[in-house]
Amino acid sequence: MNIRTTEQRHAFEVFPKRDLAIVRGEGATLYDATGRAWIDCASGVGVASVGHANPTVAAAISEQARTLITCPGVFYNDVRARLLEKLACITPPSVSRAFLCNSGTEANEAAIKFAMHATGRRRFVCAMRGFHGRTMGALSATHKHRKAFEPLLDGFDFVPFNNVDKLRAAVSDDTAAVMVEIVQGEGGVRLGDAAFFTAAREICDAHGALLIVDEVQTGFCRTGRFFACEHHDVRPDLLCLAKAMAGGVPMGAVLVGDRVPAEVGMHGSTFGGNPLACAASLATIEVMEREGLAEQARTKGARFAAAFAARTSPKVRDVRQIGLMIGIELKERARPHLEALMARGVLALPAGPTVIRLLPPLVIEDEALDEVAARLHEVLGG
Ligand SMILES: *Cc1c(COP(=O)(O)O)cnc(C)c1O
Repeated sequence: MNIRTTEQRHAFEVFPKRDLAIVRGEGATLYDATGRAWIDCASGVGVASVGHANPTVAAAISEQARTLITCPGVFYNDVRARLLEKLACITPPSVSRAFLCNSGTEANEAAIKFAMHATGRRRFVCAMRGFHGRTMGALSATHKHRKAFEPLLDGFDFVPFNNVDKLRAAVSDDTAAVMVEIVQGEGGVRLGDAAFFTAAREICDAHGALLIVDEVQTGFCRTGRFFACEHHDVRPDLLCLAKAMAGGVPMGAVLVGDRVPAEVGMHGSTFGGNPLACAASLATIEVMEREGLAEQARTKGARFAAAFAARTSPKVRDVRQIGLMIGIELKERARPHLEALMARGVLALPAGPTVIRLLPPLVIEDEALDEVAARLHEVLGG
């Protein structure tokens, strides 16, 4: 079977395909069918933080698969109970209970519904350049990718990220929630200001609105803290998680604070909180804690920053970075440079038309990271 032509014939293709078929991974390395290796700075879009084929995660999945894969939310389950307890323990103190689902967009859908239910209001204030997912509710909260699908949900307003005055002007006593990322990922790796989050909390409190924080991309050690909230004084009422949460097994969660009441029947999910994903997530969190991956993201991030900054390029407009979440904004289009990097054995991502985004597995070796900096330098010239 030819992998490419078979996918081309039978996939309802919505992705801008790269000319590479990946069949295997280990740590921060991916392989094609011929055995050629690539350094992975995509992690399946920030998913494989504990590395590909992580032995602890693989063992937990295989053990759980032989024990119990599915168990609906109407029954209690041992693995789910352990994960819920663990999540309450590692997430910020403003949230303590979780709704478990299967993806980032689902986590945001749930958060939107929970905020509507808790406040009886229907209006939301979100950030320009924000990204919250592709389903209709999350897309309503997303500033881009929406044109062909309008009208979406009513009542979503957008303010420039980090603009406190515009946020203050947009929030009213009709606002159900303000919904923001801590670092905008898809929007180009843009870091939120501490002052913006402090103000967002105050403005929400003044109007009885909730604060929804989308940490789907920044959560689980990516930015050098277990959650990016911890860099600032951010106290979310609803905290949305997914991507790296279960080591690559699809899983999402909304962590919920005391001001948001639960009601039986208000929401649900067939697969949400299934024991297989819960076991994968528990193992992933165990690896993150045991190997200190938040700290590794900090030290490796600093190593990369030093290696890359030592070689400036006239094509680079700006470098934005927190931990191992790295955005290199160019003065020209990123895509040809992503292709050139791939030809040199490095897989990276775009974040908008002019930003090269690096989200390597947090377990990446120092030598591999130095290699990435060197290949980037080659490609960007300097
Ligand atoms: C990726 C992402 C989503 C959507 O997650 P899916 O699992 O693809 O639905 C939502 N919010 C943020 C911040 C993301 O990075």
